[in-house]
Amino acid sequence: MLDQLREEVCAVAKRAQADGLCKHKSGNFSALDADAGLVAITPSGVDRDLLAPKHIVVMRLSDGTVLECPEGLRPTSEYLMHLAIYRTRPDARAIVHTHSLYATSFAIVGRPVPAVIYEMFTLGTSQARFPVAPYARPGSPELADSVVDACRESDCFLLERHGAVALDETDVAGAYLKACYVEEISHLYFNALQIGGGAEPATFSAEELAAWHHPDDKA
Ligand SMILES: [Zn+2]
Repeated sequence: MLDQLREEVCAVAKRAQADGLCKHKSGNFSALDADAGLVAITPSGVDRDLLAPKHIVVMRLSDGTVLECPEGLRPTSEYLMHLAIYRTRPDARAIVHTHSLYATSFAIVGRPVPAVIYEMFTLGTSQARFPVAPYARPGSPELADSVVDACRESDCFLLERHGAVALDETDVAGAYLKACYVEEISHLYFNALQIGGGAEPATFSAEELAAWHHPDDKA
């Protein structure tokens, strides 16, 4: 069931670990088969060096019923958040959640990350920032509720005192690319604040980001 999605989710989970975006078993990954209404999602507590497609759990989106799961495993403890995002954003096809260092640093202080470089125009932000979903205990129904406004605003957002989330309309590789940008832009923003002695750097407005286009495209 969902063999291709399981392979894709597994491959991205391993890559995130290898890239240093998800250390110490942190982070979780999922992809949705919208026609079937099924989600392929990483299990809880499996070493990524040992993770294989057969370990990826299959759940029903509508009620969270686990349809396929190897004996002794469970879906990630943060599956309620993934299901809430798919229900809130019917266009979402994949979700990557990380505790990447710089993004999580801004999440710890509850500070949104503004558009300090124009690439943010590719990241599905409507307000030219990564917003912060208010704190709720990881894994709780309250956390699932807390992400609703943030994922309506942006494909990429922070979880207060917790981490970062990126969703994509195509696939888990796309969500992972966005998660990489979330970390990189957070790092650049941190650097800019440091260089400026804490002063806010210049940022792009939502209008400026929306106006950007390839020179070969019609404006
Ligand atoms: Zn987490």
